[in-house]
Amino acid sequence: MKKYILPLIIALSGCSLREQLIESETEANFRKQANIIASQQAQKPSYKLEDLLDTEIKERDLTLHVYIQPSQTLWDYHDYKNELFGYVKSFFAQNKINCNIIYSDTRKDYNSHNELGVEVLDSGDEIVNRYFELFSQQNKFEGSITANRLKSSKGYAVTQKGIALVNGGWEEFREDTSRKDKKYYYENDGVMLNKENILRQNAGIIVHEVLHCMSLFHPNDFYPALVSTKQENIPNVLSHLNPEFSDELPLGYGIADLQLRLMHSFLAGNNTYKAFVHAIRILDVFEIMIAKENNLFIR
Ligand SMILES: [Zn+2]
Repeated sequence: MKKYILPLIIALSGCSLREQLIESETEANFRKQANIIASQQAQKPSYKLEDLLDTEIKERDLTLHVYIQPSQTLWDYHDYKNELFGYVKSFFAQNKINCNIIYSDTRKDYNSHNELGVEVLDSGDEIVNRYFELFSQQNKFEGSITANRLKSSKGYAVTQKGIALVNGGWEEFREDTSRKDKKYYYENDGVMLNKENILRQNAGIIVHEVLHCMSLFHPNDFYPALVSTKQENIPNVLSHLNPEFSDELPLGYGIADLQLRLMHSFLAGNNTYKAFVHAIRILDVFEIMIAKENNLFIR
C-alpha cells in the first residue's frame, strides 16, 4: 500500500494550472451530482410492498415502440410482425392493458412510465454492440451481465434505457424457411403450425423483457419467494419455464397478482414507478431496496 503514496503525491503536485482547473471543475460537478442524489434520498419513495401495490387495476395504456433490424435473418419478424405483436397485445389485454404498437425505423431510449422500446436484432453480437452503444458514456458493463452471457441470451432488458433487446437470431432452424408449414402439437390434442409456435415463443420472450423494463423481477429472486414460478400449473411469464400453450393463454404463461399490481402502479406513474426511478431504473438496486424494507433476502 505504502509504495503507492509517493507517486500519488508527485502526480498531484505535478498538476498544471489547467489540470487543477479541470480537477476542481470535476469536483464541483461531483458535488453537484452528490447534492442531487442526496436530495433524491431525502424524498425517497417507500419500497414497502403495500406501498408499491398502491394502484387499482383498471384499463391502462402502454405504448411499445418496435424497431426490427432490417436483416434477411429476421424475415419472419418482418413478415409476421402483426401476428407476433398480436400475441404480445393479447397478453397485455388479459391484464387490462391496452398495448399500442408503433413500428419504427429509428430507435432511442425511453424514460417514461408508459412508453418503452423493443429492439429485435439479428444476433448475439448485435445485442452486445447495441448494449455498448447505449452505455457508450461509461463503456463498461453496468450490471452483472457479461458479454458472453449477453451474446447467448434470447433477450435482455436494458431497464435503465427502457429498452427490451430481443435476439431474433437464436432459432437453430433459422435457415429452414419451410418450417412455417410444419405442425406443432400441444396439450389436449391441440395443434398449431410450427410458425405459430415460434411466434408465440418469441412473443413470450418480448413480454418477459418488457416486463423487466417495468420493474418486474423473476419469481425466484426473493427469499421467501414473493411469486411462485407456477400457479395452477401455469408457468409464470418471468420464470424460465417453458410455455404451456392453451386457448385461454396463447403465450402459455400467466402472471401473479403481485406482478399485476406492480405493473399497474408502474403504468400509472405511481409508487412503483417512482421507486424504480429512485433505484436508477436498475432492477438489482430496486430488488435490494425491496429486500431491505420488507425483511426479505435476495437469492
Ligand atoms: Zn429475465
